[in-house]
Amino acid sequence: MHDLIASPFLDGHVAVQPGRREGLRIGAGRFRELLDAPPQAIVPGWLAKAARNAWGVALDGRRLDGTVLVRQPAALGYGRASWEINKGCDYDCEHCYLGLKNFEGLAWNDKVKMLNVVRDSGALWFQITGGEPLIDRDFPAAYQYANELGLMVSIASNGSQLSKPRIQEVFARHRPYLIAVSVYGATAASYDGMTRNRGAFDRFTKGLEASRDAGLPLKLNIVVSERNAGEIPQMRALADRYGFPHHVFTTMSPTIEGGGERLGTQAADYVMPRKPFQGCNAGHTFFHADPWGKASICKVGRDPQFDLITDGVDGLRRLGAVADSLQLRTGGCSGCALSGTCFTCRPLAKLYQEAKAPLNTYCQHGGR
Ligand code: SF4
Ligand code: SF4
Repeated sequence: MHDLIASPFLDGHVAVQPGRREGLRIGAGRFRELLDAPPQAIVPGWLAKAARNAWGVALDGRRLDGTVLVRQPAALGYGRASWEINKGCDYDCEHCYLGLKNFEGLAWNDKVKMLNVVRDSGALWFQITGGEPLIDRDFPAAYQYANELGLMVSIASNGSQLSKPRIQEVFARHRPYLIAVSVYGATAASYDGMTRNRGAFDRFTKGLEASRDAGLPLKLNIVVSERNAGEIPQMRALADRYGFPHHVFTTMSPTIEGGGERLGTQAADYVMPRKPFQGCNAGHTFFHADPWGKASICKVGRDPQFDLITDGVDGLRRLGAVADSLQLRTGGCSGCALSGTCFTCRPLAKLYQEAKAPLNTYCQHGGR
């Protein structure tokens, strides 16, 4: 496998090392030099020096092929993508924003097609998520293949499988640049209660131990709900104890089907003021694909979707226009005088409205 990836990225070019988050910008001329070089050429001196300085890797005198994977320029300008390999999960969290979590998805041949489309979209940074992605039978092969394509892969997981040797072996072969693991409590009572799964906390902490010992790049996402809000300091302390950075999330969402049944888990004292929505690049520089290879602008705005298995990369061509129309569509907000300072994007506001959520959770008229 390659030591480095050189790739177009948005309006420039970068060199990155699989498994590391830091990248180097490289000029268009130097990227062209790599693109045009014959496979037997030696890694140019400027790149060997930059790689030594950035990542401490020695590439001097090595052939380009097998050392640097040079990604072809793509017709579409995507930089990031995410994929739910499967919506099935081994937990049944009371706050989960996925309503239906059927264990189903593409056959292996179509997974390969899907991953090829991600590569052809130009995306460099690629998240595999779920449900729980690590319980999908095809996860190890899909992860390996995504790495071989020159995607920089991260994982979003509940951590239940991280102590398993077969999973640690997968990550030892190809280090992900990030594994984002959700934290649902600091005690077995709250964690197992929130996931509705006995022994979940024990599996979670064993996964943290195995990952720390293997030096994996975990980031912990502390999910605050009414059940575990009293344990925020302990959850932070747990992250510190294992030496992983953490972030605290306090806002619960409706389900992606617009159901309001999860909103009751919102910790009442943690409905935080949000900044006015400034727009986002969903559909333009990133997209999301569901377990069937259906692409949408993001994980929240899932309607309409485009079939990447039948349409290939062409299925992405209309996403930018869809994103613009979704953001402009006012739906239940037409005539609102406060729309200029609204703090919820339209696709998300639509889900809140469908879920008949209390106004104060997503709208300025809720009187915060
Ligand atoms: S672990 Fe994640 S995907 Fe699974 S039920 Fe919980 S929130 Fe949903
Ligand atoms: S939920 Fe809204 S802000 Fe987030 S990516 Fe989608 S459109 Fe953008």
